[in-house]
Amino acid sequence: MIIRKKFRFEGAHIVRNCTSQRCRENIHGHSYEVEVFLKSDQLDNGFMVMDFILLSSVAEFIHSFDHSYTLWDKEADEVKDAIYRINTRVAEIPVSPSAEGYALLFFFVINRIISKTKFVNGEGNVKLHAVRVHETQSGYAEASAEDLSMVRFVLKDIKFNDGIQKEWKDKTWWNQIGEF
Ligand SMILES: [Zn+2]
Repeated sequence: MIIRKKFRFEGAHIVRNCTSQRCRENIHGHSYEVEVFLKSDQLDNGFMVMDFILLSSVAEFIHSFDHSYTLWDKEADEVKDAIYRINTRVAEIPVSPSAEGYALLFFFVINRIISKTKFVNGEGNVKLHAVRVHETQSGYAEASAEDLSMVRFVLKDIKFNDGIQKEWKDKTWWNQIGEF
């Protein structure tokens, strides 16, 4: 059985090298919707795949991008310097922040969160099935496990600056999922 939880964030970016000149040359924003699909072979004691309350770190992660600038780590140094100078919330990531890039990045991290989640209510083999990122009302990108072969990065390539980290309700979640 598959369940889905939807999250939202308001994010800013530039998508370098894309076909549309507007997108590749201008800082602009979108109201993103992120659908997280989870799958299990068994229901827990409450007849649920899993209680959404266990997704608090997923919420913390996705909301880290809210009212943040998402900076591709391949940007020119002068752009990086300017972004860090004028923003207090910057997420620097190893993929371009297209909807596809976000979907792959989110799958990678949320998969790690789910694999580190302690299930103690009779849940079955709970797995992250897919992550769907809607950048506009008409378009989305969806990533699942096999799509991770398109990219290569590790968790420590994802960097949340101090302005983001200081607003985390749980300051420990990032280190808990990582091997830093
Ligand atoms: Zn855009």
